[in-house]
Amino acid sequence: STMPPLLSAIANAGRRGVLAKSAVVMERLGQIDTVALDKTGTLTEGVPYVTDLRPMPGSGLDETALLALAASVEHPSEHPLARAVVAAAREHDLALSVADNFASTPGQGVTAAVDGHTVTVGAPARLLRPGTGEEHHHKAVAGLEDSGRTAVVVLRDGVPVGVLGIADRLRPDAAVTVAALTRLTGRTPILLTGDNERAARRLAAEVGITEVRAGLLPQDKAAAVKEWEAQGRRVLVVGDGVNDAPALAAAHTGIAMGKAGSDLALETADAVVVRDELATIPSVVQLSRTAHRLVV
Ligand code: ADP
Ligand code: MG
Repeated sequence: STMPPLLSAIANAGRRGVLAKSAVVMERLGQIDTVALDKTGTLTEGVPYVTDLRPMPGSGLDETALLALAASVEHPSEHPLARAVVAAAREHDLALSVADNFASTPGQGVTAAVDGHTVTVGAPARLLRPGTGEEHHHKAVAGLEDSGRTAVVVLRDGVPVGVLGIADRLRPDAAVTVAALTRLTGRTPILLTGDNERAARRLAAEVGITEVRAGLLPQDKAAAVKEWEAQGRRVLVVGDGVNDAPALAAAHTGIAMGKAGSDLALETADAVVVRDELATIPSVVQLSRTAHRLVV
């Protein structure tokens, strides 16, 4: 081919399933020495499903009422956990209530007005107070998280009324991708997640990751990346969510998962995985190094 090397690198990357937004991206990708991976939707398939419905005694809710309430609030959200909740409600043919004043807090959860109540669905670590009369919830949450589930708490007018357990499958190519990235950079990738520490550590062990930073808000993910960059490292961030956008922006190079990735992640990233295969990433990092060598 008579294409300049960096352009042909873009074309080759595209053929392998990664769409780079510019030639500069391919050059920068060839320089990375540290990889930070998001959990939900990146290392996992991001098609989670509801496994447990635990309405709390005294809430006046049964399992289906709890699910309908949660799904009514989650309906407008594009978060993978929200899609799981809405899909479960559909499977049970539940009628959803209209939600007003929907608001989402990345890394935490969602809130809306439903049937005259303010209902919040999201991370127990952010929404439950430690101790103080919420023992039922803490117990339910700990039990679910110990079995590798993501626990999501439902609050009605600020009072916890139930807990949902949600499971997600590891991508089949997660472990080989971690191994290949370790070989390429000489460092094991790091897991960055807003999810709980227990579920994160369990999943990390399955794919060969030892360094885990859990319970992170979007700005915490970005702060971790900036910290490494300040040490002279060049960080590749891979993510899919709105919550990954600040980290994708702070990274030397950001790659978004294209199939189920949020619009904000796709806009912020420098490149997009179009075939939804994680293993295309190390392959393209390898390619970008070759292309870079041709230029210098
Ligand atoms: P990750 O970093 O693993 O992709 P997120 O930062 O997207 O995870 O989410 C972190 C946590 O915030 C979730 O595990 C969940 O507890 C809570 N959360 C965020 N958005 C939602 C939502 N729409 N519904 C329920 N929980 C949510
Ligand atoms: Mg994610």
